[in-house]
Amino acid sequence: MSSASPVVTTAELEKSKIAILGYGSQGRSHALNLRDSGLDVIVGLRAGGATAATAKADGFTVIEPAEAVKQADLVAVLTPDMVQPDLYVNAIEKNLKPNAALLFAHGFNVHFKTIAPRKDIDVILVAPKGPGHLVRTEYEIGRGVPCLYAVYQDVTGKAKEKAMAYAAGLGGARALLIETDFKEETETDLFGEQAVLCGGASELVQKGFETLVEAGYRPEIAYYEVLHELKLIVDLLYQGGITKMLTFISETAQYGDYVSGPRIVDAATKERMKAVLKDIQDGTFAKNWTAEYKAGLPNYKKFKQADLDHPIEKIGAQLREKMVWLNQQK
Ligand code: NAD
Ligand code: MG
Repeated sequence: MSSASPVVTTAELEKSKIAILGYGSQGRSHALNLRDSGLDVIVGLRAGGATAATAKADGFTVIEPAEAVKQADLVAVLTPDMVQPDLYVNAIEKNLKPNAALLFAHGFNVHFKTIAPRKDIDVILVAPKGPGHLVRTEYEIGRGVPCLYAVYQDVTGKAKEKAMAYAAGLGGARALLIETDFKEETETDLFGEQAVLCGGASELVQKGFETLVEAGYRPEIAYYEVLHELKLIVDLLYQGGITKMLTFISETAQYGDYVSGPRIVDAATKERMKAVLKDIQDGTFAKNWTAEYKAGLPNYKKFKQADLDHPIEKIGAQLREKMVWLNQQK
């Protein structure tokens, strides 16, 4: 990567009306960043829904999703993935202007065919590689979160330009834009959150905590060793990869890493990672998640409660109360 990439701007969307459907983690950040980038943004939400008041307080015109879609040249679908298929059928499909763009932040429904987009519209993806609040806070300090973008359907010949302009409006072009396709974004995103980021990391923390506490060590010390300090390590990984982490930890920590890391995460773990990936690729995970959602989330609620009730949460809450600098950034 010797030369800088050409500057990507919001120009392609300067004359467009953008409807943001959903005002949660991603929706609010997208709406605020796009507006601050000079674009024309309206918000489509159910009257009396959970976030309509927030959007109004932020100064947006809030209208029913179907009405917002009728007015828009680009519709960003930022409701939870599991409500998108019904929202598409009820509010989007009949109301979208021909040649308009339908944009997603995750390819789930299009890739797994739980939404079949109309043939006379552009279908695009812009997926920030970070949680919604970071999309906003990075933008506010003049930076951005790297974004993946993709084109599923291009009827105007401008689909890719629209996606890149939207990503630029989010601030993503200040960081990095990477082109992908819906399949790659969907499958890698699901794998990352399941195997490493959310599932893998939280399970590793809980099991490490249990191991220390069951061996008789104080829970507050176990908390610092396996949870709190993880952030300090992840910050090094984020800035400079494993190379930077290795230069900042002691020789003793390095030797322990080399001999014990592979005892915890070994070839059998990798085989199970491959099985997780296969379930994602062949649609098993999507099928199970959709069925779970439709059944009213019985297992989801049970698993979530078990996480919330884990002893590390209790000691963690007590310790974080005493760390005032953490309480300041809620
Ligand atoms: P969220 O749960 O934070 O927000 C959901 C919003 O949709 C809220 O405003 C809610 O009131 C509204 N909503 C809920 N049900 C609705 C319905 N039936 N009709 C209309 N509006 C409804 O969602 P999120 O986490 O921001 O996810 C939005 C999209 O962004 C998803 O496709 C997700 O995969 C993707 N994404 C999320 C993140 C993240 O950090 N959370 C990161 C990348 C991509
Ligand atoms: Mg877990």
